[in-house]
Amino acid sequence: MNIHEYQAKELLKKYGVRIQEGIVANTPEEAEAAAIRLKEEYNSGWCVIKAQIHAGGRGKGGGVKLAKSASEAKELASKILGMQLVTHQTGPEGKLVRKVLVAQDVYYPGENPTKEYYVSILLDRGTSRNVIMASTEGGMDIEEVAEHTPEKIFKEWIDPKVGLQPFQTRKIAFALGLEGNAFKEMIKFLDSLYRAYLDTDSSMFEINPVLKTSDNKILAVDGKVNLDDNALYRHPELAAMRDLDEEDPLEVEAAASDLNYVKLDGNVGCMVNGAGLAMATMDVIKLSGGEPANFLDVGGGANAKTVEAGFRIILKDPNVKAILINVFGGIVRCDRVANGVVEAYKNIGEINIPIIVRLQGTNAELGAQIISESGLKVFPAILLKEAADKIREVLA
Ligand code: GDP
Ligand code: MN
Repeated sequence: MNIHEYQAKELLKKYGVRIQEGIVANTPEEAEAAAIRLKEEYNSGWCVIKAQIHAGGRGKGGGVKLAKSASEAKELASKILGMQLVTHQTGPEGKLVRKVLVAQDVYYPGENPTKEYYVSILLDRGTSRNVIMASTEGGMDIEEVAEHTPEKIFKEWIDPKVGLQPFQTRKIAFALGLEGNAFKEMIKFLDSLYRAYLDTDSSMFEINPVLKTSDNKILAVDGKVNLDDNALYRHPELAAMRDLDEEDPLEVEAAASDLNYVKLDGNVGCMVNGAGLAMATMDVIKLSGGEPANFLDVGGGANAKTVEAGFRIILKDPNVKAILINVFGGIVRCDRVANGVVEAYKNIGEINIPIIVRLQGTNAELGAQIISESGLKVFPAILLKEAADKIREVLA
């Protein structure tokens, strides 16, 4: 699960990570009031208005703007709120901005120049260890740095038995070329950040940029936090941070019915039992000249209830021209699945697109017979090739 930058910063702050302070706002008026409050509390004249969406690259897309007064904060917030923000991570349709973070300007000039760094923590599955990645090339696209100058990304792996050691945080701060107070601050920053990462059962933290201010403080200007869904039951306060507006509505509905659904852009919907078979089925759809409209694993029990929930979700996608059901009847017998499909179909009523039902396994023939004799617009198949040919036929 992803959370917003403002939520990530609140969370980091609780663990003692220094952050660029800010106040979230839902309206231009709230943004103006936030700018005034920031000025009083932190004595910072200027502020930045930052669009809160679950995607990076907001700065380049026009979702991060500097305001020199509270009235300008209001004006900029009115432009950013409600905008369909397009970044390299949103897709061409962009994302609607519903909230902005009004944050203190931390780039004010002073004795020393400010400098942006990159810090992330994630699980390296290759070594089964958490790794801290850090770079002096902060602020910009880290993907670019990784591709062209990978030597500029410093990595430190953490032994789970002993945890993050002081020599390691010193090594990172040294690799970043820090000294004096900034060196000490970075060590504290990394320690707190790592504690937050472990404590929240996160799978990724990415702070880009981490800023060295002109008075040599180290703080998080941005915060991308990815929480492990499988551990959310241990963290109700984190689970409550979920923003359903940021998620695909069909995926939200599917999750509520315990279906494993991922929306895609194609024209053939599919419903399958088992993730591996679902992947293979998507390949078959492609080989038949179609494009999969989704990934949908209904799990082991393909009964009338799950099939109906699956139908309803797939049918909400206007691009879907046909549906392929591909179920292997091992524990669940094909005749029961066939009856489930017929029952679900009848419960929904009018379905105007062809449905191909491929059932293989125990009682496959009986299953095909039930489908053929249903009198509905459903077509049986036993061999995968028959299903593929039928898809080609209905798409033609
Ligand atoms: P992202 O583009 O979605 O990654 O959003 P960030 O939070 O990283 O902000 C993008 C950029 O905005 C940063 O790299 C900074 O250059 C700039 N920025 C963020 N906060 C401030 C600020 O307080 N003052 C100024 N002048 N620039 C800022
Ligand atoms: Mn960023």
